[in-house]
Amino acid sequence: METLTPNTQDTQRKVSDAEVRDALRTLLLAIGEDPDREGLVSTPDRIMRMWKEIFRGYDAEKKPTITTFRNTNREEEMIFDTGEYYSMCEHHILPFFGRYYFAYLPDPDGRILGISKVARVVGYCAARLQLQERLAEDIIQMLSDALKGKARGFAILLRGRHLCKTMRGVRNRGEMAVTLYTGEFKKNRQLRLEFLKMTEMM
Ligand SMILES: [Zn+2]
Repeated sequence: METLTPNTQDTQRKVSDAEVRDALRTLLLAIGEDPDREGLVSTPDRIMRMWKEIFRGYDAEKKPTITTFRNTNREEEMIFDTGEYYSMCEHHILPFFGRYYFAYLPDPDGRILGISKVARVVGYCAARLQLQERLAEDIIQMLSDALKGKARGFAILLRGRHLCKTMRGVRNRGEMAVTLYTGEFKKNRQLRLEFLKMTEMM
């Protein structure tokens, strides 16, 4: 499986707030705006603060700690979780967002994920410039690492709307779904169908 999205350690150059502010002012000028008019004076600062939040996925310190428990009951049944996600596409820096459906098969000799942590991991991985496919990979990678690779399989379905498809170009509804299966989900069609059935119930 691919490695996580390049993180700050190897790619980040320290950029001062003033540089960011200037760059955003330039972009406002480029679209024909007056960055000094009342409504826009604070916009560069606002964007800067917002980016720190919605792109926190580059900050290793914001990485969620993932609690795991000993699988004392030797649980093997599929564990399922679903929730919303919000991310930004790397091609247009526009939002794509929707629902994630996640499942895994615990290893009776391994550990169990604190399921409430899945949402945190999704949120963290989504807080970068992403592609829906890579987002799916990043989530599975991080959760698999938390279990030290000891799970019988992972399944994820991301169903999202991409504003870069809705607002521009083809202007269709911009709905896209990606799935990713590992381990037993990859080998066993029946398991995949079971998973997909769960996603339809949610
Ligand atoms: Zn895009």
